[in-house]
Amino acid sequence: MTKLIKVTTPDIGDFKDVPIIELLIKDGDIIAIDQPLITIESDKATMEIPSTHSGVVKKIFIKVGDKISKGTPICDLQTVDHESSQGDEKINPVTESQSNMDSMENVLNCDTVVIGAGPGGYTAAFRASDLGQDVILIEKHEKIGGVCLNVGCIPSKALLHAAKIIEMSHEMINNGISFSKPEIDINKIHDWKNSIINKLTSGLTTLSKKRKIKVLQGLAEFNDNSSLIVNKDNSNYIINFKNAIIATGSSPIKLGSFPLDKRILNSTSILDLNEIPKSLLIIGGGIIGLEMATVYSEFGSKVEICEYDDQLMPGADKDLVNILHKKLEKNIKINLSTLADECEIKNNKVNVKFKSNSKKWSETYDYVLVSVGRIPNSSSLRLDKCNIETDDKSFIIVNEKLQTKASNIYAIGDVIGQPMLAHKAAKEGKLAAEIISNQYDIIDYKTIPSVAYTSPEVAWMGLTENFANQNSIDYEKASFPWAASGRAQASNSTNGLTKILYDKKTKKILGAGIAGENAGELISESVLGLEMGANIEDVALTVHPHPTLSETTFFASEIADGTITDLYIPKK
Ligand SMILES: Cc1cc2nc3c(=O)[nH]c(=O)nc-3n(C[C@H](O)[C@H](O)[C@H](O)COP(=O)(O)OP(=O)(O)OC[C@H]3O[C@@H](n4cnc5c(N)ncnc54)[C@H](O)[C@@H]3O)c2cc1C
Repeated sequence: MTKLIKVTTPDIGDFKDVPIIELLIKDGDIIAIDQPLITIESDKATMEIPSTHSGVVKKIFIKVGDKISKGTPICDLQTVDHESSQGDEKINPVTESQSNMDSMENVLNCDTVVIGAGPGGYTAAFRASDLGQDVILIEKHEKIGGVCLNVGCIPSKALLHAAKIIEMSHEMINNGISFSKPEIDINKIHDWKNSIINKLTSGLTTLSKKRKIKVLQGLAEFNDNSSLIVNKDNSNYIINFKNAIIATGSSPIKLGSFPLDKRILNSTSILDLNEIPKSLLIIGGGIIGLEMATVYSEFGSKVEICEYDDQLMPGADKDLVNILHKKLEKNIKINLSTLADECEIKNNKVNVKFKSNSKKWSETYDYVLVSVGRIPNSSSLRLDKCNIETDDKSFIIVNEKLQTKASNIYAIGDVIGQPMLAHKAAKEGKLAAEIISNQYDIIDYKTIPSVAYTSPEVAWMGLTENFANQNSIDYEKASFPWAASGRAQASNSTNGLTKILYDKKTKKILGAGIAGENAGELISESVLGLEMGANIEDVALTVHPHPTLSETTFFASEIADGTITDLYIPKK
């Protein structure tokens, strides 16, 4: 059943009689919760007023120029009454009005269709629209933003921030400041985290609307290489396109030998767990597993990590990983070269069997997180209908223009492979839109930085020592230990290292790695250096503010340049 709800102006703080400068809705629009309805501007600030409900706009009570205060009616919304509804009526908060869709008899035409509204897809859609294309963006979930905003980067970083506050609260215990043990209300933390997600996803909805991009909710599959079908609530839309960009992302890998049970978590369900486990096993010592280990260990869980490789974050340079490993193992049991190969649910606990060389044992936990990698979302797209090829792991194969075998269909982000990172997806999204619009010929980036937002953080970019050694690439290295940094000393962050890899002859920057506080922020300087073709002298001659952790990149470059004064390095 539907009901009519009057949406009024919420308490907007210290504001009264504030003029409306923009109306963001019209009659018939379908609105999501938190989607901005109007923009108001006072002498203090400009702000958007979000909707408190989802539904169809039936009547608008205000216009541009009207002045509003708390309680001023904005509009009537027809919403679904979930309590009385039998679940047979649904409102999908797509941003194109339903009446428009219906009047087009379910056939839509566009220049570019983008499938998947994660960081790759929405960036591609926005850029293509800004370059003059008529764009349709299709997303199977109710909210746009993809894994990153809804169940990835943003919620995990919110939980890591909460964990950091706890860590910092006991950091000064021996140096003059102590707090009592923190009380953790996990449900309130989730409310706060979810409010951040809602703000960001509704911001994306506004950005789509402002660009007049049609956002259609439904599951897309190809019909041929110029049309696709979108299934939405058992009705199909046909989309005819000139170009398509596939940005369908990836999903967590499941372990076949592990049962489906609420105690077996993946990277999505752990972000919403409404209790703090007494004991938590994390299978997989990659970035996602280690970030969750950092969170739950600070929240008070007894955390154990099981990693099949002989180091955490396989692939990353050992000197960087060692710094993190040493810190983690103070509170977390880490089993390397270990396989967790079977498990059984008994008395509301998970019993896991392990193997390591010839040793076998089993252990019982409250919960187990399986974070052993991700698989591309390519299987439901009917790629066979347009001869698009995938590799043996189902990643879509593209050329240096991000084109699939069907030259008007492009693919970007997680669905084309490593590194599976949001900024890589976004960069490729922008490039695909620009290549389609004849702005660029080929992908034009030199590196995609990687960051583990653990404590301490670990970040690297460009050439790694692992890769250089495996591929016999000659390089020179300069490393600066953070114990020699004044800022690191003054902020209890001496557990760190900054290294730069550079070409022996030209001294050009080839790569960099940082383990330490805020490494994820600090790595950008080296990324810029690599992109600009800078050499170590360029960094060593750049005055860095003192005392900062950014000086560690400067000092590493000075070591390479032979001009360091903050350390004594005997002449060779
Ligand atoms: C816990 C966690 C933490 C992370 N933290 C970080 C981080 O800190 N930094 C970072 O850079 N990366 C991080 N990542 C990785 C990052 O989230 C992904 O690399 C990024 O989201 C990939 O973007 P994408 O656009 O390729 O795909 P996605 O974000 O996966 O979006 C794809 C979208 O396509 C939709 N879709 C799929 N199939 C269809 C279909 N057939 N029809 C319609 N829609 C479809 C999906 O519903 C989804 O919304 C994290 C991931 C996880 C799981």
